[in-house]
Amino acid sequence: MRKKLIAGNWKMYKTIPETEELIKAVLKEALPKGVGIAICPPFTSLMAAASLLKGSGIHLGAQNMSENDEGAFTGEISWKMLKSAGCDMVILGHSERRQYYGETNEKVNAKARKALANGLTPIVCVGETLQEREGGVMEKVVGGQIRGCLAGFSAPDVESLVIAYEPVWAIGTGRNATPEQAQSVHAFIRGLVSELHSAATAEKIVIQYGGSVKPDNAANLLCQHDIDGALVGGACLKAESFGAIIRAAGV
Ligand code: PEP
Repeated sequence: MRKKLIAGNWKMYKTIPETEELIKAVLKEALPKGVGIAICPPFTSLMAAASLLKGSGIHLGAQNMSENDEGAFTGEISWKMLKSAGCDMVILGHSERRQYYGETNEKVNAKARKALANGLTPIVCVGETLQEREGGVMEKVVGGQIRGCLAGFSAPDVESLVIAYEPVWAIGTGRNATPEQAQSVHAFIRGLVSELHSAATAEKIVIQYGGSVKPDNAANLLCQHDIDGALVGGACLKAESFGAIIRAAGV
């Protein structure tokens, strides 16, 4: 049985004092055992978050990472830096990085490869735009992203990463995919992983849904057979709503 994983993507929000306040409030929430939780604050808040999360069992993730080990790459952050700051996860290929920073499937592939080789769990984001969905090419786009981002990966590598299906039209818009829409894409992704690797690998891989997940829609999304958790943006910036979504995954 796959364990559900709820991850909070803080995006470019929260200073260090604000980080401390939010993490303390999350730790006060009633959090069910048996649900994986990850918090992904901005780089500058990682160390403060790590020290508060120590011993809590909550994973700490970054929102991006270089595909290089080190060198003259101004503004970039390496896997080694993330690990030394206390991270064990990293979000890669978020649609905002694809849209504003030109991140391609090839880049995400190189970054995920580097993360896996160095003990960081990548959360690899995929998802179609509204135009692509309405144009009937959703499967072509999402399938191409999965094939590109995971090209050349071994079955154990695929089993140890996380995929986040995030329809771009649902991110930060308040317009979430219906549970049926999300389930159908998750089943498509799992089927593709089965085709590329095996049914056993497809059974193991964790596939999160992301896109306007809120306390009032979380339960209906999270009870779908192929939805193994959520990548949460806006609603993770308040401890009560993040806690409520985690509790919805625990029932
Ligand atoms: C996200 O940032 O990955 C996201 C899903 O955001 P939101 O929950 O605000 O739609």
